[in-house]
Amino acid sequence: MLATQDVYPSSTSYLTNDERRERLILKRHLIDLLELSFAQEAAEFAASDAWEEDGSVSAIDWLRFNCKMTTGAAANSIAVGETMIRIPESAQAVTDNEIGYAHLTTIVRTEDAVGERFNEKLLLEKARESSPGKFYYICHHYRHAADPKRYADEQAEQVLQRRLKLSTWMDGSVLISGQLDPAGGAALRAAIEPLVRRTGAHDDRDLEQRQADALVELALRGGSPAQIQVTSSLETLLGLAGAPAADLELCALPISAKTVERLACDCSITRILLGSDSMVIDVGRAKRTISGPARKALNVRDRHCTWPGCERPASWCDGHHLEHWAHGGTNEPDNITLLCGRHHWMVHEGHWQIIRDSDGRMLTIPPTVRFGPLLN
Ligand SMILES: [Zn+2]
Ligand SMILES: [Zn+2]
Repeated sequence: MLATQDVYPSSTSYLTNDERRERLILKRHLIDLLELSFAQEAAEFAASDAWEEDGSVSAIDWLRFNCKMTTGAAANSIAVGETMIRIPESAQAVTDNEIGYAHLTTIVRTEDAVGERFNEKLLLEKARESSPGKFYYICHHYRHAADPKRYADEQAEQVLQRRLKLSTWMDGSVLISGQLDPAGGAALRAAIEPLVRRTGAHDDRDLEQRQADALVELALRGGSPAQIQVTSSLETLLGLAGAPAADLELCALPISAKTVERLACDCSITRILLGSDSMVIDVGRAKRTISGPARKALNVRDRHCTWPGCERPASWCDGHHLEHWAHGGTNEPDNITLLCGRHHWMVHEGHWQIIRDSDGRMLTIPPTVRFGPLLN
């Protein structure tokens, strides 16, 4: 057992390995119990006027400042405290040390995201058998299955949040900071990854230096189109209800069906399609890709992005299937048009439509639902 002095840092060099293991597990459980109790108090505090009395703008802000927490941690505590009454079995599982507080936070956030479709028993079972990191990932698939539209909208919103700031220092160095959505970040990683590898035993550059060198090399030489691997079920690609999200190589979180649809539309992607029994049924079949002479003919015909008013050159464009091959569309030139990355995204994830009229002109139809300032 732990004694009062165990709360303060002190050397444990006198312990046996068995004792070390046992104590760490016990300590983490006690911390989780304290987190649970803190969460309940934080939620009750948020419902009171105590934080207002202190002049704070919100309970989260009060916790952030007075309890020395990050905004995310404070918000999580209040959310867990407010939700635990609706998920008693999960809260009890933390008390019984079957799952950790980290699992519980993910359960709460998932309940918040899927609303009425939340199934506590199912998720609790997954939590018991998964590490918190894996469980977080599983919950994203679950959220996609429960509400693919909301999931796709959230990912679309993340694309609208993309930022890249380049500032020049006094000595001419360029400082880079920014933010990419999960799929965009994965594309960048895939593009620089071959250039990030060490060039031999003598290469003693650290990871950050190699990444910076790789980015400059990419900018100078253009590089070849990134090959990204997408693993998706056929149900996901067809956008069927209840389908899980898809996995994108090098991407921290699962991606929505809409994004898979766009990536699978383009030829620079290695697709792995899974049947309902998780057996591989298709690995990027060549006949669906637009490459070689067919792509050259397309480049000559369209010359640039065919979105009205856009002139991004053909080499920067994807071959977009006007009727997706997953829905029976062919690889014939009539069914394909060049679209730049931005416009390809707007068609698949941004809810725009692009059609070719009988005179061969491209017409665009804006989304009926607006969800971001850039799509006005
Ligand atoms: Zn497309
Ligand atoms: Zn374009």
